[in-house]
Amino acid sequence: MNPGSLLSRARQIGLLCVALVSPLAAAQDATPARLEVVVLGSGGPGATGRAGSSHLVLLDGVPRILVDAGPGSFARLGEARLSLARTDIVLLTHLHVDHVGELPGLFKARAVSTRGDIGFRVFGPAGHRGAEGDASFPSTRAFIDLLFGKAGAFSYLPAFSAPMTITASDVGTSRMQTLLSEDGLVISAVAGHHRDAPAVIYRVDYAGRSVTFSGDVDAEGLAGLRQIARGSSLLVFNSVVLDPPGSPPVLYTLHSPPAVIGEVARDAAVGSLLLGHLSPAVEHAHDDVRASIARSFAGKVTFAEDGMRMQP
Ligand SMILES: [Zn+2]
Repeated sequence: MNPGSLLSRARQIGLLCVALVSPLAAAQDATPARLEVVVLGSGGPGATGRAGSSHLVLLDGVPRILVDAGPGSFARLGEARLSLARTDIVLLTHLHVDHVGELPGLFKARAVSTRGDIGFRVFGPAGHRGAEGDASFPSTRAFIDLLFGKAGAFSYLPAFSAPMTITASDVGTSRMQTLLSEDGLVISAVAGHHRDAPAVIYRVDYAGRSVTFSGDVDAEGLAGLRQIARGSSLLVFNSVVLDPPGSPPVLYTLHSPPAVIGEVARDAAVGSLLLGHLSPAVEHAHDDVRASIARSFAGKVTFAEDGMRMQP
C-alpha cells in the first residue's frame, strides 16, 4: 500500500494518529531547500545581544558560503547546529570589524572539523589608502595575509589541524562581474559604497532562486545595488538608520534609510526583503520602518533574528 492510500485508509477508520503521520511529514521535511539563508548575526556594531553581521548560504542543505563574519557568529553557528565542514566560499562585504572580526574563530572551527585538506576562496573589497582624515583599509588579499600569512597574526592556523589553503581575491571594479560559476551556482558582485570603506555587494543564484546581500550601503552604492539585485528572490538589506532626521546625520553617510530601502526593493523588483544589521533604533521602530518601506515596496518584509532560516 503506498503512503497516500495508507493515509486515506487511516482517515476512513479514524486512526489518523501522530505515530502514522509523523514519519511521512518527516520524510517531506527531510528534503532540503535548494537555496537557503541562515542568519548567523543580525546586529552590530554595538553589543546589543545580537551577533554582528553574518549569514550562511546553504545549497541543497549544505552550508557552502559564508557572507561576512561578525563577532558572535561563531556561537550562533554552533547554536544552529551547523558546521563549516563543507564551506569553501567566503564573501566579505567590507572590512569593518562588525563584519569580519570573527573570521579567525570561524576558520579555526573549520580547521578542527576535519583532517582533510581545506580550501577557502575568499572574496572581498580592494584596499583604500585614505587621504588625510580618511581611514585606510587593506585589500582583502592583504587582510588575509595579515591574519594567516607567514608573518600574519595567526600564521600557525593553516597548518594547525588540517592543511588549509586560503585563496583571496580583491573585487575592485565598479562593473558588475561574475566571480564564480560552477555546478549551477553563480556568484556575482558589484562595488558597493560605505563612505570610506571599500565595499562589495554580492548576489548568489542557485536552482532558479537568488539572494542579494547589500552589505552596508550609502547613497553612492545604490545604483550598483539596483543593478545586481534586479529580480532577486530575496534582498538582504542592512538596516541601521531611520528615515531622516531620526538618526544622527553622520550615519546617513554610511547607511540607507527605510524609505530608500523600499525604493530600491521596488526598482529592483525583488521578491522579498530581509532587514539585517539591525540597530537598536530600528529595533524600536518596527512599525515605522515597515510603513516607510511599504510606501514603495509591496512585498514581504522580515526583520532578521540570529538563527533565522529563510528560503529565498
Ligand atoms: Zn556594519
